[in-house]
Amino acid sequence: MMAEDNERWIDPQRVESYIQELAQYGAHGETGVARLVYSPEWVAAQDQVAAWMEEAGLRVERDAVGNVWGYLDGSNPQHSIIVTGSHIDSQNPGGRFDGALGVVAGIAAAAALRERHGQPERTIGVVSLVEEEASRFPTANFWGSRAIVGRIVPEEPRRLRGYDGVTIAEAMRDAGLDPTRIADARRDDIDTFVELHIEQGPFLEQEDVPVGIVERITGYRQYLVTLEGAANHAGTTPMDLRRDPMAGAAEIISGVIDTAHRMGRPCVTTVGRVNVSPNERAVIPRQVAFTVDARSPDVAQRETLLTRHEALMHEVAERRGLTLTVRVDSDRLPVASDPELVSIIAAAAAEGGVPAMVMSSGAVHDAMQFAEIARIAMIFVRSQEGISHSPDEFTSARDAAAGTEVLARALHALVYQS
Ligand SMILES: [Zn+2]
Repeated sequence: MMAEDNERWIDPQRVESYIQELAQYGAHGETGVARLVYSPEWVAAQDQVAAWMEEAGLRVERDAVGNVWGYLDGSNPQHSIIVTGSHIDSQNPGGRFDGALGVVAGIAAAAALRERHGQPERTIGVVSLVEEEASRFPTANFWGSRAIVGRIVPEEPRRLRGYDGVTIAEAMRDAGLDPTRIADARRDDIDTFVELHIEQGPFLEQEDVPVGIVERITGYRQYLVTLEGAANHAGTTPMDLRRDPMAGAAEIISGVIDTAHRMGRPCVTTVGRVNVSPNERAVIPRQVAFTVDARSPDVAQRETLLTRHEALMHEVAERRGLTLTVRVDSDRLPVASDPELVSIIAAAAAEGGVPAMVMSSGAVHDAMQFAEIARIAMIFVRSQEGISHSPDEFTSARDAAAGTEVLARALHALVYQS
């Protein structure tokens, strides 16, 4: 059970009202949010976040890509800083909690620490990151966190075009930012990044536990697989004379899905998009292209999964006389949380009377970018029915407060002198 009311550091009402209010920016239907990066509703939401940070007694700064930072300054400025936060952009439409909860939890936690414990020794930074979802610009994922770790390449702002035809450089100018200054957002003073996020999956609910402590974030590889054969008449070409890329695709698609299934949790493989050419009822296709997204948080298991997938692609293509092209669109090793941070968070949960379990993350998060420059860990909060990237996404006020309680107590252990 949670600590008694009078022992709690976090007021559930505070977190809940932040969530409800933020959801009004880009509100979509009853419970959804469509808040795309650098849009007017996104700008207004970032302004609201900055205003809440100020109300909470934090010193507010904005960086060159539009990340909003709120600092609870420490007494010892020589130390590198302890950062928490997440993103406020959403899917189109998404729910109220993805990303947003991590931002408001950070503000509520820093406010509670300031009110209860005064000035910390080390500085806490709460960051509201610019863009995680790539819901406006197809490959802009982690724009805010990539800027902080210095992983935006110089031509990206002009090259990256959104679904609305606008480049991200133009969108930045519309939001009052200067895309030529992106490099200024880079930092080297971050010691630790702890991200609180909704789980977006079913494990915590299945285990009846409100909070998860993430020890590993999944690694993945995303492929575009293209098979080419010979287009021909669907009625006159005997089966044994065909070079049919659809037959090959069907075999590979069911094969990779089956491989992940047989290897078991936490392996996952998804084929989410298929393009058929010419895509006609009575024509054997000339070409079938499809995506494969394969993931595992375990380094060795990811390797085995990928090796099996690639072997199958080659074997099928060769046997069926098809030309195979395999393009790797993204590739990332799993990221491990810092073991000491995991134990600090576990101790914080125990101290706050919040049941918590250690788990891995099958989704990728900004924390993965921060791992380039800092030690990281994540706190997950239970998602109802595991639903996310949907207006049906829901996390109870009680669970949101429980996660925030753990965050506040973990930050306390990290920034106040023992
Ligand atoms: Zn998110």
